Amino acid sequence: MSDYLKNGYLTLEDISPPDMERLEKGPVAVIECVQEIPCNPCSDSCHRGAITMKTSINDRPDIDYKLCNGCGICVANCPGLAIFLIDQSYSETEALVGLPYEFLPLPEAGEKVMLLSRQGEVCGEGVVQKVRNTRAMDRTPIVFISMRKDLAMTVRFFRR
Ligand code: SF4
Ligand code: SF4
Repeated sequence: MSDYLKNGYLTLEDISPPDMERLEKGPVAVIECVQEIPCNPCSDSCHRGAITMKTSINDRPDIDYKLCNGCGICVANCPGLAIFLIDQSYSETEALVGLPYEFLPLPEAGEKVMLLSRQGEVCGEGVVQKVRNTRAMDRTPIVFISMRKDLAMTVRFFRR
């Protein structure tokens, strides 16, 4: 574990991301929730039973990547904005990353944005491909941004 409480951000060593074989199969949720707090909308909302809390609501969520189909319902239901969608199968050269986004105005498809890492550092440029914002998704918009494949596990926010 990194010293995320002191640093204020997570690193890859704090999470258990899917392996490359799963990432390349299609969209999948990546959970970046490390604190033991009484919270479980992620597991309650997943109709495929992919997310479980091992022994109690205070546990960190555990995800079975084989069951996850990348529908995004848990992303919209997480009050901590701690779940992201990664699709490494998007194209030969680009990944599509879905980020929960609770600011207005919402970006529109075609908009170019600056990509930010977990630390808030600019790490490239991406293009908004779509914004999903429906009642079924609890009205938390998910912004889908195409970017270089190698950035998909680094980018976790964007600047307009
Ligand atoms: S993306 Fe869909 S299938 Fe995957 S864990 Fe979230 S709710 Fe479940
Ligand atoms: S809903 Fe979000 S904040 Fe709550 S346990 Fe699940 S991933 Fe963590």
